[in-house]
Amino acid sequence: MSDRKAQGRPPSVDQVLRSEAGAALRARHGHAPTVEAIRAVLAELRADGGPAALPDAVALSAGRRLDAAGRSRLSPVLNLTGTVLHTNLGRALLAEEAIEAATTAMRAALALEFDLGSGRRGQRDSILRDLLVDLTGAEDATVVNNNAAAVLLVLNTLGLGREAIISRGELIEIGGSFRMPDIMARAGTRMIEVGTTNRTHPRDYQGAIGPETALILKVHTSNFRVEGFHKEVPAADLAAIAHEAGLPLVNDLGSGTLVDLAQWGLGHEPTVAGALAEGADLVTFSGDKLLGGPQAGFILGRAELIARINHNPMKRAMRLDKIRMAALEATLRLYRAPDLLVERLPTLRHLARPKAEIAALARQLQPELARLLAPDFSAEVIDCDSQVGSGALPTRTTPSSGLALRAAGAAAGGSAVIRLSAALRALPVPVIGRIAQDALILDLRCLDDPDALRSALSALEPDQWRR
Ligand SMILES: *Cc1c(COP(=O)(O)O)cnc(C)c1O
Repeated sequence: MSDRKAQGRPPSVDQVLRSEAGAALRARHGHAPTVEAIRAVLAELRADGGPAALPDAVALSAGRRLDAAGRSRLSPVLNLTGTVLHTNLGRALLAEEAIEAATTAMRAALALEFDLGSGRRGQRDSILRDLLVDLTGAEDATVVNNNAAAVLLVLNTLGLGREAIISRGELIEIGGSFRMPDIMARAGTRMIEVGTTNRTHPRDYQGAIGPETALILKVHTSNFRVEGFHKEVPAADLAAIAHEAGLPLVNDLGSGTLVDLAQWGLGHEPTVAGALAEGADLVTFSGDKLLGGPQAGFILGRAELIARINHNPMKRAMRLDKIRMAALEATLRLYRAPDLLVERLPTLRHLARPKAEIAALARQLQPELARLLAPDFSAEVIDCDSQVGSGALPTRTTPSSGLALRAAGAAAGGSAVIRLSAALRALPVPVIGRIAQDALILDLRCLDDPDALRSALSALEPDQWRR
């Protein structure tokens, strides 16, 4: 052991730091991280007992370590899952207008709570409020951190220490630990469940109303569908029941939308204006689902209720920062020109993208992928189904196209496909597909530029999946 050490004595940390490559590393990464990386490389060399390494070579290895460690955990991935609003991949991609607005808001001071007319303190909420009122016809509006916060705040404001009535068919769970009963408990509202899982009638609500009732809550069961022997009370009827008893109806739309998606062949999701017109006193929905903006939660409806919500001290703990407000303002402005939305809003552009266009992309990329993966995998153009995601239009899929990568020859078998999918996820720009029927499916609906996939795959080495 000591013999081998003497044979391949590595340079000292100082020698490496003084080398040209070492000095460049220090200039780029700073002293302490550079020394730490050099020490780690030297320790490995000593353990290996290999031939003596030159200071520059040690610096090069240290540089690779520093680059790998410095890569952001939030750097981009290619979403080829076929789910447009993928919660685990960050949901909506923002419009260029929103990105620009957010960037500007980060760089410069802005009149966030400052009235430029009077020179006095202004209202931070009024900026988004006016746009939302304009777009939906609501009396008033306010915005918080996300829709979960919106629901929590509404329940806490209207129902603290009192009762909220909800159908058993609407006690939903949204992925990531949002469960309606838990939110109601944390809001300090007593949950009064009515009806059954599959059927709830007007008389169920009417029979539950008492002196302690504070509100009736309707929740859009956006992430699943009950089929068969099923009945729910339509929002308009529920509004009549609530109002007869002098109670507010709160309608949590989840992925509410400001425009009717049916015009792009996407099936009908209730619109915010529609829910208000049906008599809801408050409507809540998300900013980063179908709306196509940054994470946010909207509360729209009667001015007197919004005023109470704005006075709740919890509101301050859920407010938006200036960056998201800027992005949200720019996103909402796009809705003033609905005819241009498909061009401008990536979420809608991806959802409405015609299958023929996606199939053409698949045919263009197929020979290149087949060549790249041969002889271990085959690549075939396939028809597949994309989905909206984030619980919107759950039973509705959209015809799409993509590539099916299947193990061929010696590599055949499901585990080869799993290794390939892991290799694609490990790329500097990870490529995320989905595995179905022993194939790795790359749904190309959300691939705007084929060069993005070419460039990501250029870093792929066969030994990454052969291991
Ligand atoms: C998604 C959803 C929520 C939670 O919204 P976030 O913006 O994710 O916090 C609440 N209610 C319903 C019905 C939803 O679909």
